[in-house]
Amino acid sequence: MDKGAPNIAILGAGVVGLTVADILQKDLGKANITIIADKFKEDTTSAVAAGIFRPGTSFRGATREITQKWIDDSWHYWQDILKSPESPNAGVMAFSSYIFSKDNYHVTRNPFIENLVPIYRPVQEAELKLCGPGWKYGSYFTTLKIGCEKYLPWVERRFVDKGGRIVSDKVDSFTSLRQYDLVFNCTGLGAKYLCNDYDLVPLRGQVIKVKAPWLKTAFYGDYDTYIIPGLDGVATLGGVRQYDSYNLQVCKHDAAAILERCCQMLPALKKAEIIAHKVGLRPHRVPVRVEPEVIGGLKVVHCYGHGGYGVMCSPGTALNAVKIGQDFLKSNIKNKL
Ligand SMILES: Cc1cc2nc3c(=O)[nH]c(=O)nc-3n(C[C@H](O)[C@H](O)[C@H](O)COP(=O)(O)OP(=O)(O)OC[C@H]3O[C@@H](n4cnc5c(N)ncnc54)[C@H](O)[C@@H]3O)c2cc1C
Repeated sequence: MDKGAPNIAILGAGVVGLTVADILQKDLGKANITIIADKFKEDTTSAVAAGIFRPGTSFRGATREITQKWIDDSWHYWQDILKSPESPNAGVMAFSSYIFSKDNYHVTRNPFIENLVPIYRPVQEAELKLCGPGWKYGSYFTTLKIGCEKYLPWVERRFVDKGGRIVSDKVDSFTSLRQYDLVFNCTGLGAKYLCNDYDLVPLRGQVIKVKAPWLKTAFYGDYDTYIIPGLDGVATLGGVRQYDSYNLQVCKHDAAAILERCCQMLPALKKAEIIAHKVGLRPHRVPVRVEPEVIGGLKVVHCYGHGGYGVMCSPGTALNAVKIGQDFLKSNIKNKL
């Protein structure tokens, strides 16, 4: 422990908390940083995600400019890892994707990334037939994905190797953190209770993990149908988006509907071995909350509510949160509870 350095706590060890920790360690140099969480790695929501870099067009920060900056900064953070020898260990992989629709041209467009990723173009007539008959609109784009099954342990190890501390604990109130100079609140859906934040709503998701090492391209169809290739040949099939549902149990009806829709798009999936069914509650909030607050004298920077885009956008929001935190540390507000 460095006696002259600030004591900083990061609440949460999902993709958001760990990425804040990573960036904070790099930017602050001298600091005593502790991650506190009651769930880690495969027990977090982050571990359920397919982790594709494709923001929904409704994804929102405080302004359109802020949102675009989060997305751009995130892309460059992941690109840096992708272009390094660490990419397989960190679970970051590049791939391309088709998005098709039978009745809505607009779902195939994405202004957030059309000028960011190397290729984003309308499909040609022949490509519309790749997933059976009836597809009217489509786009093809190159992107990347972050497999949290690898990224979370990788970034956690990097944090500990650089002197970070990890504590397993549930925090019921910010008053129990009075010994810290600054706290980052990266608790995902947990912030609903910690902050009494009624704008934060669970958006239930369910996916099927299947063995499909032959799958090299992602496919999106109508009604939240997606087929995403993954690390070690394990693909993710989805999905559902159920507003305000707290159900963490696997629903056999959702599973059957997901399988039917995905197999309709790619019949070869009928033979793919099912490895697991997974459920997660996306922490949905409009806008995503990245802002400072003084709670009973304690300096807190909130960074939660990323909905269905927290994996891809964690670096951009983390950079924003860390900048706010650094300014906050220098400010005169006294930490007294
Ligand atoms: C089916 C599905 C598919 C998805 N696909 C994608 C995708 O393709 N791309 C994408 O970018 N995103 C995707 N997401 C969204 C993504 O998973 C989330 O946005 C992201 O995981 C949120 O990360 P987080 O760190 O905020 O939350 P979490 O992963 O839930 O982590 C929260 C952390 O806070 C801790 N915590 C909470 N409350 C407390 C407390 N009181 N005391 C101590 N610790 C606490 C928890 O223990 C945990 O460590 C998907 C989600 C689902 C469910």
